[in-house]
Amino acid sequence: MKEKYHYLFGPVPSRRFGRSLGVDLTPYKTCSFDCVFCQLGRTTNKTVARKECVPVDAVLAELDEWLKTDGKADYITLSGSGEPTLHSRFGEVLEFIRAHSAIPSVLLTNGTMLCLPEVRSAASRANVVKVSLSAWNQASYECVNRPHPQLRFDQLVEGQKAFRAQFKGELWMEVFLIWGMNSIPADVGKIAAIAREIGPDRIQLNTAVRPPAEGFATALPKERMEALTRLFYPAAEIIAEFNTNNASDVRANQDTILSMLRRRPCTAEQIADVFGMHLNEVSKYLGKLMRTDQIRAERKNTALYYTAVVGE
Ligand code: SF4
Repeated sequence: MKEKYHYLFGPVPSRRFGRSLGVDLTPYKTCSFDCVFCQLGRTTNKTVARKECVPVDAVLAELDEWLKTDGKADYITLSGSGEPTLHSRFGEVLEFIRAHSAIPSVLLTNGTMLCLPEVRSAASRANVVKVSLSAWNQASYECVNRPHPQLRFDQLVEGQKAFRAQFKGELWMEVFLIWGMNSIPADVGKIAAIAREIGPDRIQLNTAVRPPAEGFATALPKERMEALTRLFYPAAEIIAEFNTNNASDVRANQDTILSMLRRRPCTAEQIADVFGMHLNEVSKYLGKLMRTDQIRAERKNTALYYTAVVGE
């Protein structure tokens, strides 16, 4: 799988989507945001320019091959190294999945491009669209999501409302909470009020359980998250820890990464290179190893290195 495909990765265990085949439509790391909590690290290409970031014919050829030779996953998810709606032809990928397979498709988007009618129309081809909302005004938007300078918070909200009005599939919303940035109940209540106006089918609270772009992006304690779920309508869920951690392939990948980190500290990118994994996959395993205190992270210059915790 790893050598065979450029644009597909996994299927990887996902906290939200079971075993999910990832389709990566952007080069690393192309996004309209530079969220402080991003599990992929800092944005290197912050843009709002939509274009054919990777050749769509090559993506469709890989999907065709995968469907014919393997084809088993709970979902096919457009996500990866950045914001998939920046790809000007992402709707064709969703259309292909719908036409050639019974596997439901998911679009993970930060929602910034939904203010454009052509993006809403393309996104409507997914079975599930998950948008993000982690701010309540322009100032908090700039702190948490660090958007491209052309982006306005009001436009983000209006785009999500317009999409809700036309989208017949499942609209999910992720609210990412960071300790001390958007975590006090009064502020979370403002996010909840805007979420209610948008009207998603499900709301999920997340926090920095995986290594974030910035060391200061600290996770909220579970009890605090639980109390905040009640501010939302419908009541928010906390994204459960992925519950098949004991699956043999998950254990094997975790153990392989851990044994490498016992030998020498590495960045997530180095691990991805060595094992031919997508950075998203590596991040999931690092998150699990961090939560169970088997590794720790240290920033050296601009890079974040992971080291095995020995003898504790
Ligand atoms: S979390 Fe998503 S939206 Fe935010 S910078 Fe990372 S890829 Fe972009």
